[in-house]
Amino acid sequence: MSYADNCKVLFTKEQLEQRIKEVAKQIENDYKGEKVTFIGVLNGVYAFFADLVRNVDMPCHVDFLRASSYSGTTSTGNVKMSLDIKTEIEGRHVIIVEDILDTGRTLAKIRDELLSRNALSVKTAVMLDKPSRRVNDFQADYKCFEIDDLFVVGFGLDYDEKYRNLPYVAIYDEN
Ligand code: 5GP
Ligand code: MG
Repeated sequence: MSYADNCKVLFTKEQLEQRIKEVAKQIENDYKGEKVTFIGVLNGVYAFFADLVRNVDMPCHVDFLRASSYSGTTSTGNVKMSLDIKTEIEGRHVIIVEDILDTGRTLAKIRDELLSRNALSVKTAVMLDKPSRRVNDFQADYKCFEIDDLFVVGFGLDYDEKYRNLPYVAIYDEN
């Protein structure tokens, strides 16, 4: 018995750990000899972020920001940054790390904002990608898994602030 018995496992802890290690190696190979600033999008990213950066064997700097999207009654999807990074990123290689890429609005907005601060490069790494939900042409540079249009929880992701601490990714089912 678990408080999350209504959630159906989609990716186990082992599958996630394995794939995150592979993506970390990809990043290592792409940035040989460089220093990277990893910027996590709170809150959902915390578990993926911790695992990803701990598997990257190279000098790095970490910082966090928070972004919220207000869709209102008409889904305009207006994204606002409500907590900013402390790091001066001008001239630095940045990788934005996000839990899940859905419509693409959040990451597109954050990427444009960081590029406007003259980062040397801005790439993105996501744990999950739902390509069928995209409203723009945003693509992640690094991703662990693509999923169908499902609402998922766990490994940082919440439903109403619940389920973030599940050690796996699961499909949320109300029943
Ligand atoms: P986007 O701007 O790409 O539509 O928004 C991405 C954000 O929407 C994610 O950071 C996450 O907070 C939320 N989101 C999108 N899909 C899911 C999902 O399946 N589960 C959860 N828990 N959050 C999601
Ligand atoms: Mg998020």
